[in-house]
Amino acid sequence: MVLFVDSRSGVAIESFERALLNPSSMQGLCVPQNLPQVDFSTYLPLSYAQATHTLFETLELGLQNTLLARALARYSKFNAIAPLHALQGFKTPLYVQELFHGPTLAFKDMALQPFGVLLSGLAQQHQEKYLIMVATSGDTGPATLASFANLPNTCVCCLYPAKGTSLIQALQMQSMDAPNLKVLGLKGNFDDAQSALKALLHDEDFQTHLAQKDLRLSVANSINFGRIVFQMVYHIWGYLDLVRTGAIQYGDLVKILVPSGNFGNALGAFYAKQMGLPVEKIGVVSNVNDVLTEFFNTGVYDLKARHLQKSLSPAMDILVSSNVERLLFALFGHTRTKACMQELQDHKHYTLTSSELQSVRAHFEAFSCDDAHCLETIARVYHDRHYLIDPHTATALYAYECLESRLPCVVVSTASWSKFAHTTALALGKQAKNDQEALQVLAKEGITPPTSVQELLSKPLVHKDRVGVSDLQHYIKAWLENF
Ligand SMILES: *Cc1c(COP(=O)(O)O)cnc(C)c1O
Repeated sequence: MVLFVDSRSGVAIESFERALLNPSSMQGLCVPQNLPQVDFSTYLPLSYAQATHTLFETLELGLQNTLLARALARYSKFNAIAPLHALQGFKTPLYVQELFHGPTLAFKDMALQPFGVLLSGLAQQHQEKYLIMVATSGDTGPATLASFANLPNTCVCCLYPAKGTSLIQALQMQSMDAPNLKVLGLKGNFDDAQSALKALLHDEDFQTHLAQKDLRLSVANSINFGRIVFQMVYHIWGYLDLVRTGAIQYGDLVKILVPSGNFGNALGAFYAKQMGLPVEKIGVVSNVNDVLTEFFNTGVYDLKARHLQKSLSPAMDILVSSNVERLLFALFGHTRTKACMQELQDHKHYTLTSSELQSVRAHFEAFSCDDAHCLETIARVYHDRHYLIDPHTATALYAYECLESRLPCVVVSTASWSKFAHTTALALGKQAKNDQEALQVLAKEGITPPTSVQELLSKPLVHKDRVGVSDLQHYIKAWLENF
C-alpha cells in the first residue's frame, strides 16, 4: 500500500483526495513514502488515458474511476498528447517530446487540464467550495484559468508578475472570461508573487474571512501532489513510444533532459524512474538562475548571494525551487528534509554531505544555459533541422549538445515558440519591437502561430488590475464579495 506523508514530519496524510484539496494543511509537502516497482512494459498496449488510470490504481490513489475518466476526457481537446519528434543528424538518437499541444500551449496543460476536473469533482462530492490560489511565472496561470473556467464549486485567483510574462501569456490570462476567475498583476517578480501567496495562505485574518464565506483554500501550484502524478505519465509514455516505434527495446536506458524551474516536471520523471522506468539519468537544465545546477553539481543549495535575473526563458526564472523538498524526502527521509528546509529558511542555504550528493547524482545531472546559447540553439536547430523550439526547450537542447553520452535522449519540450514570439524573432535575426510585431515579422517568413494565438490578439481584456503586495488581500476580499 502506498502511504502518503508530510515531507517534514513523516506523519501520514489522510488521503490523496485531501492532499489534492488541501495541500497547504501540512508543514511540508505531500509525498509518497514508498513507491511500488512496476514493469512498465505491461503499459505498452495501453492508450494514454488507460496508462494514467493504471498508474492511479497502482498508486492506490482511491479516486472514483468515473471521475478520473471525466478528468482525462479533457485530453480530447488537445491537438496531440505528448508526441515525440525525432530530430535527425545528431550524434545520438534525439527525440523532442512536445508537451505543449493543450489549450494554453505549455506543458502545464498536461497536468492542470485533468486536475481542475478532479478538484471540482471532489469538491462537489464533499459539498465544499474552494478558492484556488495560484502564483505564476507565466504558464501555470493561463493553464489553471483555462482548466477551472466555469467549473462548479471552485473559483480561482491568479497572481502573476506584472512585467514578468510574455505578451501572449499576459493576454491568455487577461482575456480569460468566466465568473469564477480573477487575475491580478502583482508589482514584483515571480518569487515575490510566490511569497505573497504563501503569506496569504498562512494569514489568519484571511482564513477567517474565507471561513465566513464558507470557502476553503487550495493551491494549483506544483506543490499540489495532484499535479505531480499527471506529470509522471508522459515520461512513461515517451519511453514506451520509443519502444513502440522500435527505436529502443524495453529495458534499454535513455536520458531525459528537462528545462526546470520549480522542479515539478523533472520530479515526475524521477518518480517514474524510482518505480522502474529504465532511465539512466535525468538532466536538470537551468538558465542563468542556475541554483539547481549548482545544487546538483555541488550539493549546495545557496540563495545567499543570489538575486533573480530576468532571462529569455522566464518560466525558469526561479530561485526557490519548491519540489526539491520532495526529492530530499525520497532520498533522505523527513528528518533530514526538515533540517535542510529549516536551514534554507534561517540561513538561505544548506549543504548535502558527500554521500548524500552521491545518491542525488545517481539519478541526476545538471546543466545551465545562458541567453546567448539559448538564442544560438534556437537559430541552429531551425536552420539545420527546420524545427522551431521555444526558449525553454532550447536550454535543454543546448544541454544535450554538451553531453558525452551515447544513449538515446528525450528532450522535454515545454512550450510552443509562439508564446515567446519576440525571443523567437530575435533568435532568427529579425527585428521586432514586441511580441505582436514579432508575430507579424515571423508570419512574413512563413512561420505562423497556432490559431489560438492569432485569436488572442483581438480578444477583449477582462482583467486589467495591477496591485502591490500590500493591497492584495483587500483586492481579493472585494472580489469575493461576489460569492
Ligand atoms: C513551468 C515551466 C517550466 C518549468 O517547469 P517546472 O516543473 O517548474 O520545473 C519550464 N518551461 C516552461 C515553458 C514552463 O512553463
